[in-house]
Parts: sequence; C-alpha cells; structure tokens
Amino acid sequence: MSRLPLMAGNWKMNLNHVEATNVVQKLAWTLSDYHYDKKKSEAAVIVPFTNLRTVQTLIQGDRYSLGFGAQDVSVYDAGAYTGEVSAGMLAKLDCTYVVVGHSERREYHGETDEVINAKAKKVIENSMTPIICVGEKLDIRQEGTHVDYVLNQVDGVLAGLTAEQVGALVIAYEPVWAIGTGEVATPQDAQEVCGAIRARVSDLVGAEAADSVRIQYGGSVKSSNVVEIMAQGDVDGALVGGASLDPEEFARIVTFYAR
Ligand code: PEP
Repeated sequence: MSRLPLMAGNWKMNLNHVEATNVVQKLAWTLSDYHYDKKKSEAAVIVPFTNLRTVQTLIQGDRYSLGFGAQDVSVYDAGAYTGEVSAGMLAKLDCTYVVVGHSERREYHGETDEVINAKAKKVIENSMTPIICVGEKLDIRQEGTHVDYVLNQVDGVLAGLTAEQVGALVIAYEPVWAIGTGEVATPQDAQEVCGAIRARVSDLVGAEAADSVRIQYGGSVKSSNVVEIMAQGDVDGALVGGASLDPEEFARIVTFYAR
C-alpha cells in the first residue's frame, strides 16, 4: 500500500485571523510556483480555533489544495464546559484533522493517554481524522527506554479503536527533546520508533491497519532535513511547528519530493 505523506503545519498559538489570511494565501501561491503535486504529498495547516472560520472560507472559496484542522478538542459533546470546543463544532467548520495529545498539551494541561484516547474517539465519531501525538522526553531517551515508552503510549491512545479506525488515523512521533529546540532526531532515530509503532499497530489491530496508518515524524523539521527524514520507510509525513509559520519554508517542506 502506498501511503500519501501528510505534511501538517502546527501553528500553535501564533498568527491571528488576519495574519492567517496572509500566510495561507502566500502558502498557496508558493505551492503553485513550486508546481505542488497533491498526489505526492498532502498539505494541511493546523491553526488556532479563532482562525478556523477564516481559513476554511479562504481555502474553500479559492479552492486551494490545502487541508486544515484544529490543535485540540474537548472530550465532551456539549454543555457547561467553559472554554472548551467540541468535535461537533470542528466538524461543522469542515476540519479534516484534529491534533490530539501534543506534548505541550500533555506537559502544560496534564493530558494523559486516557484523555487523548477519549479525544481521538470524539474526533473519529465526528468523521474527522485525529493526528495523535506520542513521544518521549530527554530523560527517557537518555535511559534508552524510548521505544518501550512510546509503544506504551501507543497502546493507551489507541485503546478500544477498531482496525478500520486505526488504519485511517495519523500517529505523530514527536520526541519532546526535538520540539522547538533545533535538535533533530536523526533519520535513523525517526525510523527506529516509527517502525516500532507500525509493528505495534500490527500486533494490536492487524497488518492491514498497520500498512495504511500514517506515521509522521515531528521535531525541528525544516526544508534542510526533511528529505532525509522522509526517505525512511516508516515515516509518512511530518508534523511541523516553527517552520510552518514561514509559508515559503513550509512550501519547500511540503514539496520535499521534488528535491
Ligand atoms: C510541533 O509543534 O509539533 C513541532 C514539531 O514543533 P517544531 O517543528 O517547532 O519542533
């Protein structure tokens, strides 16, 4: 099975909705200048909640070949949960993707694998695709137990999902020590863990789902390192933070296949 690489730009808490318009337009124009081929990679922007309506209108109105999505979602459907945004609300805005379990949510908001699993289920119930993040911190990497650690996270975040559901979602392996630090895992480091995740998915729900699930690498991906990372057999895309805020740089990352 050939898996279409997903290059997703996680803007985090950056760019207001006016700035978002400029960045998305510039990204679309630059991709066109670079002869972007959507059969070779899929591009998406993962934006703050306040930008979703603007980004949706722009992408759909101008028929840009760009997906979009949100950075988090509530575990609840509706009700007295001040500040929360439901999966139903995101689906109504035509989000394709919702990132769940980003290490910054785990670190600053105490999200556990159980909560992330519940969020992923809400996203799937609402016909969107979760991008489920896993990854170890530096101490675990230094101990050498990172593969087992990440596989344990995978067991937790995928609990109760069917083979069909797992086969259609996206898992982002993001070593926490490489996020926003300029420290990039080597392509071999990325392959080691992404390959182990695919093998675990096969053990959990079968070979067919393992063959179709897309596994991204994330952590200081740039146009200068993306080609080597994407050359790894089990890496099916990148979750890109900082570099996705620069539309020209992100366009180079999305069109990695041309270099
Ligand atoms: C991220 O936020 O998911 C990320 C990988 O950030 P950066 O690319 O900036 O390391």
